Amino acid sequence: MAETRRVALVTGASRGIGRAIAAALGADGLFVAVNYTANEAAATECLAAVKARGGDGVLSRFDVADPAQVDAAIKQLATERGRLDVLVNNAGIAIDGLLLRTKKEDWARTLEVNLSGAFHCCKAAARYLLKSDSGRIVNISSVVGEQGNAGQVSYAAAKAGLIGITKTLARELASRAITVNCVSPGFIETDMTAVHVKGEVRDALIKQIPLGRIGSAEDVAEAVRFLVSPQASYITGQVVRVNGGLLM
Ligand code: NAP
Repeated sequence: MAETRRVALVTGASRGIGRAIAAALGADGLFVAVNYTANEAAATECLAAVKARGGDGVLSRFDVADPAQVDAAIKQLATERGRLDVLVNNAGIAIDGLLLRTKKEDWARTLEVNLSGAFHCCKAAARYLLKSDSGRIVNISSVVGEQGNAGQVSYAAAKAGLIGITKTLARELASRAITVNCVSPGFIETDMTAVHVKGEVRDALIKQIPLGRIGSAEDVAEAVRFLVSPQASYITGQVVRVNGGLLM
């Protein structure tokens, strides 16, 4: 029997921003598939948080960069639950380096996970979203994709590409009432930034943020939660910035 709750897939939901998005959708009563690749303990903890907030869900382990794994996992989710309404393409990695030190393999992997991963998930999910009366896709881009950042050529290219995917699919899927939007975070407190944004770099960065602080994963999750809600049905093709004013 088809799930009565709306069904969402959040990629990269074991940690950081994805975890907060999954928890927020759980609080709105959605059934949430918590995707991850490696960290099963963290994904299990995220699923518990979804359930604790009144939602329900399931773990879904696959590598977004592998189209065969993506197809199988999305087919299984949509078939078992009888529907798929929301896709949040959040899984991402950053392999940083200045241009001359960026290896071809690092360029390729960064694009495969951050950009091709979203493409594979959109393609696999589209046939199910078309059957929903309120299909939603949200792609997590980055301020780095909008304004560039020295030392992040691959990451910036991938994140800028996500904006292109968003605007194109917004046009392609609009006639079926599916909205497609981007959320573009600034600097957010997660494992990803813990590696790169510390000490003096962190202090200098905070000085550039008008609201005077690094963002939280929940700050981003609240924007996603709104975009997937019925109240956001007339918003599509947009890049919603959650960056404390860093880029206006
Ligand atoms: P994070 O803490 O490093 O978490 C990354 C998540 O992605 C984990 O759940 C990880 O799963 C998953 N993941 C990595 N590679 C994957 C793959 N190939 N297939 C499926 N899942 C994969 O990252 P975050 O800071 O929360 O970032 C989340 C998203 O926001 C990313 O797209 C990032 O680029 C974007 N973003 C972040 C910031 C920021 O300041 N943090 C700013 C702008 C945009 P495992 O736990 O299994 O490894």
